[in-house]
Amino acid sequence: MLTQVLIHCPYCGEPVDIFVEGSAEDQQYIEDCQVCCRPIVLRVTVDEDGGVRVDAASENDG
Ligand SMILES: [Zn+2]
Repeated sequence: MLTQVLIHCPYCGEPVDIFVEGSAEDQQYIEDCQVCCRPIVLRVTVDEDGGVRVDAASENDG
């Protein structure tokens, strides 16, 4: 089941809708910003209640 999450691009600050796998374990992947096309590093964590939390960082943040 996919969960829609709104994040803000660390480069241009625009809101970006992403879809994450809610039932999956913690994951990290890169998705290009729909606005400025730069690679956003997404860290997805799922808490015990099934809530999905997404941290968006620029590639240079490490
Ligand atoms: Zn952007």
